[in-house]
Amino acid sequence: MTEKNVAPSIEGWFTTGDTPHLIGTQCKTCQTYFFPKQDLFCKNPACRSTEFDEVELSRTGKIWSYTEHYYRPPEPYISGDDFEPYTIAAVELDKEKMVILGQVANGVAHADLTTGLAMEIVVETLYEEEDTERTVWKWKPVTD
Ligand SMILES: [Zn+2]
Repeated sequence: MTEKNVAPSIEGWFTTGDTPHLIGTQCKTCQTYFFPKQDLFCKNPACRSTEFDEVELSRTGKIWSYTEHYYRPPEPYISGDDFEPYTIAAVELDKEKMVILGQVANGVAHADLTTGLAMEIVVETLYEEEDTERTVWKWKPVTD
């Protein structure tokens, strides 16, 4: 048996390793952050910039809202035949103050969450292909 390769389900949206980060962009003119990456023109209506820096967004934030879903998730959250309800958390990043949606980590129940709870980014398996494990970012309560 050989180990499966591990690869992101979606290229260039997050880093991996012990302290994963989402990858966003920041407008060079108005400093607004974007995720997913925005690099054609600034969405700030008061700004006409077309120049952005790629930045690692903060790994932590606080729950702004969360909800349990009973339907199959949209891409990139491909679900298999063994679909189970899952919880999506909307977390406001500590530094950027932008809200990032993500599935909560394996083993975290809807009842474990509360508005304002401190969360961090983790990377977990999203689905498995024959020889590759595809990963995605998820939100997990900060434990230390
Ligand atoms: Zn701008």
